[in-house]
Amino acid sequence: MAKKKKAVINEKLCDHSPFCAAKRVCGLRAITQKTKWLFKADVPLIDRDKCVGCGKCVDYCPHRAIKMK
Ligand code: SF4
Repeated sequence: MAKKKKAVINEKLCDHSPFCAAKRVCGLRAITQKTKWLFKADVPLIDRDKCVGCGKCVDYCPHRAIKMK
């Protein structure tokens, strides 16, 4: 059986915004992010154990930094 695809972030495309839309859209809270200061944050982390592969976050990332792999 093929392995289910899950969300993966391309760190080079991510702008590190603390207002990450993809993070907010994930209803399972599979995407978390540490904020460094008001306008800068770390690259969001995707918990592959929590991610169910719905693909919603892919559509919400304005930089197309998330792909399903
Ligand atoms: S694919 Fe769905 S469950 Fe997985 S991180 Fe994106 S929004 Fe969350």
